[in-house]
Amino acid sequence: MGDTNARKYHLATELVYIDSEAVKDNYNAASVPIYQTATFKQQNADGSGGEYDYSRSGNPTRTAVESHIAKIMRAERAFVVSTGMTALDVILRLVKTGQEIIAGDDLYGGTNRLLTYVSQYSGVKVHNVDTTEVARVEERLDPVKTRLVLLESPTNPLIKIADIRTIADRVHKVCPSALVVVDNTMMSPYLQNTLEYGADIEYHSGTKYLSGHHDLMAGVIGCRAAQVAEQIYFVINASGSGLGPFDSWLLLRGVKTLGIRMEKQQSNAILVADFLEAQGLKVHYPGLKSNAQYELHRSLSSGPGAVLSFETGDVALSERIVEGARLWGISVSFGCVNSLISMPCKMSHASIPVEVRKQRRLPEDLIRLCVGIEHPDDLIGDLANALGKAGVELKGELRK
Ligand SMILES: *Cc1c(COP(=O)(O)O)cnc(C)c1O
Repeated sequence: MGDTNARKYHLATELVYIDSEAVKDNYNAASVPIYQTATFKQQNADGSGGEYDYSRSGNPTRTAVESHIAKIMRAERAFVVSTGMTALDVILRLVKTGQEIIAGDDLYGGTNRLLTYVSQYSGVKVHNVDTTEVARVEERLDPVKTRLVLLESPTNPLIKIADIRTIADRVHKVCPSALVVVDNTMMSPYLQNTLEYGADIEYHSGTKYLSGHHDLMAGVIGCRAAQVAEQIYFVINASGSGLGPFDSWLLLRGVKTLGIRMEKQQSNAILVADFLEAQGLKVHYPGLKSNAQYELHRSLSSGPGAVLSFETGDVALSERIVEGARLWGISVSFGCVNSLISMPCKMSHASIPVEVRKQRRLPEDLIRLCVGIEHPDDLIGDLANALGKAGVELKGELRK
């Protein structure tokens, strides 16, 4: 990893400390300026002389957020693109016809949709396996054909953990030319740094925790090696998928508060998970000691995050609970400062055909909670109210 991106301070400090060397601004602006320009004037007739020439290829505001995020991710180099799905699309361009991808079976809905498209149009075989069992990945490894191994941990919405470290190790031993790619959106770089566990590429939907306010869309790609980074840059420049100056600026502003947001959202999530478990509901959250993968998750990350899901045993009951909540907004997505509630099978994961959902044991009654920064008593009170109205008998005492 490049020394340039070594962290000098604790992550919470690095998040707010913007290296003023990253952008040379004539006026010493305290906030990185928005270079809202498509082109840059050159000094010489042969078109040379300027650091930037055309914003598809590079823009100072984008460079500022990229170098900041590279440091946060401990990446050799990081890139920002228009959405999280664009990040995956850029990465998928490293796969040629005839090569194979091994991916999870509890993936983000949009990831599933793009992988299906690629398998239908590009002659690339995609194996969906349960990546929470290392052996399932191993049995699909082909030293010649495997190009990408795509992981999410925790998975979404079932919140299962993949042993990223062990998988990366096995993949690199058996398939030296394969790339281990992790969608780390759910944890954010604040809680989990997968490049340190041997992932070659870590990507994020910057729409979620990195920005934190649901006011922009972005994707982030961090690379462990310079050679992979160069290929990624080539695709971004060739396809024109780099993030625009204004969204780059918004993303940089959002990243500064990632630490404080994540700490609060996570501590709220722990309280919410405890409450739901106390109601006798089946809760999926790696912060619960009852979770079979509690220790594995702890070995990979510094916290359980702020997304959890639970089962009620009845689709209609789940619908009543979701509709009965007031503070919890019914919305797809997560990572925002306000709390959200959803039914993945009807919303974020509805693009996965019902038979496939069944095969992957995705419970239709599953409710996903994305916990925000509100007061935890209000969040729990609102959930208790929604549960009670829907017909769940409440246990224990609740503070009003
Ligand atoms: C939201 C999300 C994406 C896609 O990101 P967009 O910015 O919406 O394109 C990919 N993976 C995960 C885990 C996500 O939550």
